[in-house]
Amino acid sequence: MKIFLFSSIVFINCLNSVFSQNQQTDFKTKYVVILVIDGPRFSETYGDKTCRLSPILCDSLRYQGAFYEDFRNNGPTYTVPGHTAIATGQYQRISNTGSSLPKNPSLFQYYLRSTGSDKSDAFIVSSKGKLDVLANTKNKNWQNKHLASTYCGPNGNGIGYGKDENTFEKVTELISSQKPPHVMLINLLAVDVYGHAANWEKYQEAITKCDKYAARLWSMIQSNPTMKDQTTLFITNDHGRHLDGVKSGFINHGDRCEGCEHISLLILGPDTPKNLSIKKDGELIDISKTIAQLLKFDMPTSKGRFLSESFNSKP
Ligand SMILES: [Zn+2]
Ligand SMILES: [Zn+2]
Repeated sequence: MKIFLFSSIVFINCLNSVFSQNQQTDFKTKYVVILVIDGPRFSETYGDKTCRLSPILCDSLRYQGAFYEDFRNNGPTYTVPGHTAIATGQYQRISNTGSSLPKNPSLFQYYLRSTGSDKSDAFIVSSKGKLDVLANTKNKNWQNKHLASTYCGPNGNGIGYGKDENTFEKVTELISSQKPPHVMLINLLAVDVYGHAANWEKYQEAITKCDKYAARLWSMIQSNPTMKDQTTLFITNDHGRHLDGVKSGFINHGDRCEGCEHISLLILGPDTPKNLSIKKDGELIDISKTIAQLLKFDMPTSKGRFLSESFNSKP
């Protein structure tokens, strides 16, 4: 009898723990937006204590959510590889010209497969045309299946580089539509392009412009009747740029120097506590696993971790 009682208690305890785990996955988030600001150096964004170039993100929005002090691209520090790490949850040496597809399926594909939603429910909107490779994969079981919608490049057809202004217009159109996509990735290119042009003034101006785009995006989400209080926004980068004294400095990127690897992540949303500054490790591949957990789909090929410290266990 004693043995029977003991095992009943153990059994009840097990039930409780399963129950509380289920509770933990009950998030308010129904929409996810990833904003990728292409290629600023940390030293010109949050790393500048005066927040001179990025005053809204660095001095205001940062305190509205969870900020990773030491967020990393631990793979190749180029645009297509950086975005591939975000979308697939794995680092790989993929061409940076957009001439080949990622090896692994993306979070967009997993999301569309699990929900059976129309392709317009997952959207990639990018100033850089080449990023439309993120919608597809070389993986035989997934190739040409569950493809997200894309609007990449100036004409949305995957060719060339467009203006961030036009990219942002497309984003505005999608968010204010009848059915905003539940999963969206946005790329803004100006910071990176002016860096490569060795134009220090314009590079700095572009960082400030992106600061304003990020703020507009968040306020647009929060004033949208559908997305308001149901959307988690990830503001991040694909890579940084060389530190001064490393090769050509801010003009280029692509190696493993601190300037190229140390990027940023700010998470804003209904399940994220305000004013959280996180010292724990976080890296690009974690974004996919985190989104999978929030939107309740499995993503077994992502090698990242759920960034649990940024989310309330129970709403
Ligand atoms: Zn670049
Ligand atoms: Zn570097």
